[in-house]
Amino acid sequence: MDFDALRERMVSEQILQRGIEEPKILEAFRAVERHLFVSEQNRKFAYEDYPLPIGENQTISQPYIVALMTQHLEVGESQKVLEVGTGSGYQAAILSYLGASVYSIERVPALAQKAKLLLDSLKCKVEVKAGDSTLGWPQNAPYDRIIVTAASPAVSPCWIEQLKVEGRMVIPLGGPLQQELTVVKKISVSKIDKEVVCACMFVPLLGEYGYK
Ligand code: SAM
Repeated sequence: MDFDALRERMVSEQILQRGIEEPKILEAFRAVERHLFVSEQNRKFAYEDYPLPIGENQTISQPYIVALMTQHLEVGESQKVLEVGTGSGYQAAILSYLGASVYSIERVPALAQKAKLLLDSLKCKVEVKAGDSTLGWPQNAPYDRIIVTAASPAVSPCWIEQLKVEGRMVIPLGGPLQQELTVVKKISVSKIDKEVVCACMFVPLLGEYGYK
């Protein structure tokens, strides 16, 4: 299959035509080979307009959602990003391409291990560990940005604590079946501000401050 052509079509029809025009973001989606992040049998669907299974009952998000979250994260060169839910590692690879240093946590050890091997082989600036990311990763805090890629009932107090003042977080907030993609800004040590972007659907965040 001509994955380069499929990827170019994905960028043009699913991302650019839906209003995400930032050149650096488009470049990242052209550069990162999404088909490497899915199983052999799903490669032919890697550039389609929907999420795909990655094993362990988990998914790699729809390309447009990854692009939308990336746009709202407003990540800058050399910024430190905490990613909640490594999954396949695709979102982390996009953020690394944009110049961020990414610290990513995945609850399912087998997925964490697989993503780590792939991200290392692609020379991405991503550290992966297995664990409950609702507790954050205090050893590398504070973070300029936090991106949560699973449905969250609330903003974990650990994330607020580990986010820099003036930092931002992109997070699907709501029930396990439907959420609102939300941008959370940390205004001061004790104050956050929330802005809803759109409705969305993610797999649930499980853990101490997630769903039980
Ligand atoms: N960002 C991923 C990608 O690019 O492929 C997609 C993530 S998938 C939609 C959500 C992931 O969050 C799943 O892999 C799931 O196992 C993980 N997850 C759920 N609860 C978690 C937790 N408390 N800590 C870390 N990962 C968690």
